[in-house]
Amino acid sequence: MIIIAWSRSNKPHVRNRDLTMNETWTVRKLIAWTAQWFADHSIASPRLDAELLLASILNCSRLDLYLMPDKPVDDHERSLFKSLIRRRIQREPVAYILGNKEFWSREFIVSPAVLIPRPETETLIETALTLTPECEDFRIADLGTGSGCIAITLALETATTHVIATDLSMEALAIARQNAERLGAGERIVFLHGSWFEPLNAVAALQSFDCIVSNPPYIRTGMIESLQPEIRMYEPFNALDGGLSGIDAYEVLAAGAMRWLKPGGRIILEIGDDQANAVETFLLNASFEAIDKIRDTSGKYRVVTGRKVCRN
Ligand code: GLN
Repeated sequence: MIIIAWSRSNKPHVRNRDLTMNETWTVRKLIAWTAQWFADHSIASPRLDAELLLASILNCSRLDLYLMPDKPVDDHERSLFKSLIRRRIQREPVAYILGNKEFWSREFIVSPAVLIPRPETETLIETALTLTPECEDFRIADLGTGSGCIAITLALETATTHVIATDLSMEALAIARQNAERLGAGERIVFLHGSWFEPLNAVAALQSFDCIVSNPPYIRTGMIESLQPEIRMYEPFNALDGGLSGIDAYEVLAAGAMRWLKPGGRIILEIGDDQANAVETFLLNASFEAIDKIRDTSGKYRVVTGRKVCRN
């Protein structure tokens, strides 16, 4: 049995306490202990993480934990909980430990094959929804779909859109398909395997899109090693790596979108906060007009959009 010490700090009276001692561990006590243990290990949100992990073991919501602070947590539950604590101490993200992550108020399955959906990506969703009219047969392509969070959210938030989602990773596509089925968007999305636009040729050669969206990899290769361990050790490298200058994907996406969009169609791209000007240049070079740079809730540039000229 692995003993987890109470604290790494120099507190002789508590140093050797552990979760298996023969005493009553209540929900409240266990959360306090774990939050302190995580804080000692420089985990960024120690209490939240402790609560999420314990709630998953007790099969309840975080709110439920507050409603039963004095409930005892038995030996079996504590031993399961300890294995999750150990994974978190190794810096595995909570989303991978739990196997899910909330995005746009829906729960998405995630695994290390897909990037964990980020709140920043909700800016892209808001932008796309603003630009999506209520009309029949509105066609959207989501390139590099990962968990499918963008494609699925757009399909579910609009009544009549048809969505095609592509990804280079078969493992990611399996997760995205699973998410679409579970969330009730299975009928509305076609998932295709391949790089960016390439798989569209097989199914949509004679068709075109009203909107092309993507949250491509945009971290400079040389930066990845300096990211927090949760990202650099666990998230898929290919979903992060934007090449030497971080912007490789945007040039491909801008050029391809000009080919695949209907006249008047929009490209909507998530970007790193220092990439707005570079991406704007790619869109201008590809002859997009009405370029707009949009900030996220923290005031950073997060999305760039452009429109294909309206004449044929
Ligand atoms: N589209 C997915 C997301 O936004 C995956 C993005 C990626 O892998 N770069 O989370």
